[in-house]
Amino acid sequence: MKKINIAIDGPSGAGKSTISDILASKLGYIHLDTGAMYRTVAYMGLKAGLKMDDEENIVKLISTLSFKQTEDGKIICNGVDISKEIRQNEISMAASDVSKLLGVRKALVALQQKIAEDKGYIVDGRDICEVVLPTAEVKIFMIASAEERAKRRVLQNKEKGIEANYDDILADIQKRDYQDSHRENSPLRKTEDATEIDSSNLTIEETVEKIMEIVKTKL
Ligand code: C5P
Repeated sequence: MKKINIAIDGPSGAGKSTISDILASKLGYIHLDTGAMYRTVAYMGLKAGLKMDDEENIVKLISTLSFKQTEDGKIICNGVDISKEIRQNEISMAASDVSKLLGVRKALVALQQKIAEDKGYIVDGRDICEVVLPTAEVKIFMIASAEERAKRRVLQNKEKGIEANYDDILADIQKRDYQDSHRENSPLRKTEDATEIDSSNLTIEETVEKIMEIVKTKL
């Protein structure tokens, strides 16, 4: 069957990752989590003692990183599994800081475009519909209320054994929403050709079903 690319954008915690994983297994596609790439850069940058606004050195650092996502969703950087480390709250904020830098975006976007070149990818992030895959056959903009997203992130973190406080997570989500939507380079926004799906009152299955209906029309 013909393979397509599916672009999914939206704010943090809207369910992009969970939904992308399910779609990937239903379709036999690969889920590329671009947020994990920004998180990896932030984590490796902090580890190297860099400031999150030191564009020159962070871009240099990226050229030394090998980024791999395993089939079961683990994030491996330079041979080390950093899946858990990059989900910490401080790394979420640092990733948002680092993602403002044009040089960082250029380097990661190029990498993402290369990966998805052969089609059969579900790519989730903030700028996928507009910048990374403007020709993607399916474009989705997923939203949910900040409170619902905070609730979900608390559950998700608990399942992963990561400490989670609802108020801290809600504050972090609101701050990142603002920062991601108001930055100069590739701010988070819905493109005209994307279908908006509000998952606040939908189950995971209902959300997947809505997207599958759109996907079927393109296959
Ligand atoms: O999706 P996730 O919360 O893991 O992303 C972490 C941060 O990386 C986001 O807050 C956002 O600032 C940045 N990001 C981005 N562009 C993407 C994916 C993520 O700027 N395509």
